[in-house]
Amino acid sequence: MKPKVYFKTFGCRTNLFDSQVMMSALKDYDITEDDKDADVIILNSCTVTNGADSSVRSYISQIEKTTQARIYLTGCGAHTKGETLFDSERVFGVFGQSEKAKINSLLKNEERFYTLGDLDFVDDAIVSEFVGKSRAFIKIQEGCNFRCSYCIIPYVRGDSRSLDEKQILKQVEILASNGFGEFILTGTNIGSYGRTNSSSIASLMKKMSLIRGVRRIRLGSLEPIQIDDEFMEILGEPWLERHLHIALQHTSKKMLKLMNRRNKFEDDVKLFNTLSERGFALGTDFIVGHPGESEELWREAMSNISHIPLTHLHAFTYSKRSGTPSASMKPEISGKLSKERLHELESIIDENNFRFREANIEPLDILIESKKDGKYQGFDQFYNKIIIDSDEDITGEWKSIETYTPLKGYNYAKL
Ligand code: SF4
Repeated sequence: MKPKVYFKTFGCRTNLFDSQVMMSALKDYDITEDDKDADVIILNSCTVTNGADSSVRSYISQIEKTTQARIYLTGCGAHTKGETLFDSERVFGVFGQSEKAKINSLLKNEERFYTLGDLDFVDDAIVSEFVGKSRAFIKIQEGCNFRCSYCIIPYVRGDSRSLDEKQILKQVEILASNGFGEFILTGTNIGSYGRTNSSSIASLMKKMSLIRGVRRIRLGSLEPIQIDDEFMEILGEPWLERHLHIALQHTSKKMLKLMNRRNKFEDDVKLFNTLSERGFALGTDFIVGHPGESEELWREAMSNISHIPLTHLHAFTYSKRSGTPSASMKPEISGKLSKERLHELESIIDENNFRFREANIEPLDILIESKKDGKYQGFDQFYNKIIIDSDEDITGEWKSIETYTPLKGYNYAKL
């Protein structure tokens, strides 16, 4: 009987891809989807916020009580929390992202180990499936050359580098031939793709769209300054989702400077309105409560946001990360006030999203991803969630739906 390995993946889609790479690299181990049944537990960690670190710690405390499994730490947290957790013997081994493809031999070590590897490695792993998923995450890039003052990522993922384009296309071909039709391009700063392999994200997507079986391409987060003319030319392509996630992080001019962001509010307004006029649903990242966010700057940000046609939001309150410039900035904003501002922002965008769905007249093109509580669910081309009642099992199917009801937070349809 082979020992069983359980993967606990925290954080972003890049971590989902990395976990799949590790699962595919296991030869002398079986994978279990139940941590209580595991001999080995791999924590593919995130460290983007303090909250992310404490989630990893509390999960370790939980499994220490319920299993005898050997615990290993990898992912971005290996670079920030790995040493402490290793020295306190809460994990048996720590390894960096560059070591993940060696997991089958690493787990055979009888000695405890701590090896972070090379922060600038370029991933060359190919996976043939995505356990439990009906859509495929494709890692195209890693690391980041931006230096936003609140962000720890460049220090744990390294500088930006693109994966080999032939390898990415081969990856897509294999997954498409295994039945995947929807592909999500992921990385740390995917808009930087192509800078180190003389290509571009637009040209990559055009090549992907020619692969048999590729039906829809979705994108992770882009930076406003990365949306160039070449990208604008593919906006009408039928294989491109009708939603883009473009990270603003703030809409106050002074706050953007404090956060060392490269985007400028005036340009952001122009860009988002151009894309909205092309029928795109638009999402963004927004950090609320960064040091220096006075009441005056917050009011400026809320007045400015009314000029940006946002329909989706990924916002969270600022989290101090030791080792970043923002960590020593003053004045700090109280957690209570940050939460109030976060709710104010969320309610504005929720209302925008509802109005967008109400006004939409296009049939919804949906990949049914899963069944939960007897109902099917998936996302349409605008990246809005839909919940469907159907007597037939429609999991994994593509559906075009014209009749549906916009409800709070999602659409509803009965087939
Ligand atoms: S663009 Fe900024 S926020 Fe995003 S990973 Fe790079 S440094 Fe961090």
